[in-house]
Amino acid sequence: MSPDFSHAAFTMDDFTRVVVTDKQIGARLDELAVKIRADYAGKDLLLVGVLKGAVMVMADLARRLPPYVQMDWMAVSSYGSGTRSSGVVRILKDLDADLTGRHVLIVEDIIDTGVTLSWLLGNLRSRGAESVEVAALLRKPDAIQVDIDVKYIGFDIPNEFVVGYGLDWAEKYRTLPFVAILKPSVYAEG
Ligand code: 5GP
Ligand code: MG
Ligand code: MG
Repeated sequence: MSPDFSHAAFTMDDFTRVVVTDKQIGARLDELAVKIRADYAGKDLLLVGVLKGAVMVMADLARRLPPYVQMDWMAVSSYGSGTRSSGVVRILKDLDADLTGRHVLIVEDIIDTGVTLSWLLGNLRSRGAESVEVAALLRKPDAIQVDIDVKYIGFDIPNEFVVGYGLDWAEKYRTLPFVAILKPSVYAEG
């Protein structure tokens, strides 16, 4: 597919191909939102977004949910500016909310090895939440190292480094409306 982004100040030259278009993301989030609304009907739901990658999916998912749903944010670090997992998770910014008795839905951009999410699940579950579940836009089934029960998943994608729709390479490309595979030559240069 070749979406028309002629209005945007970038070219498609940095990408091998588009993996998920903005249209596909919107349609999938519509479906996931229907499930989430049904599953949490009558419940007090707190969405926990993981900065910065989950900003786009959080914004688009949250706008499909009822207005009493709340958002909070955490920043953790498991990757440097490169493309490899360090396996080390650090809290850079903690939640503002007290999770005691809350229904928590972690909103994630991507599950790669699953190391970050597995750590995060353990951490949030230890804070007295009533429930902690996960919604992730993307998952790389061939990269998973830790078995995690993910309740809501957008798309399974190939085991390649992707950027866009919140996902960065060296803080760039987060603003792309779609998810694409970055040309290896781009990060080989940096
Ligand atoms: P995991 O712990 O599951 O290996 O991945 C943790 C984090 O690494 C993700 O939340 C995401 O921020 C980053 N990450 C994993 N795979 C990719 C990828 O293909 N592209 C980008 N830009 N970031 C990724
Ligand atoms: Mg993330
Ligand atoms: Mg990153």
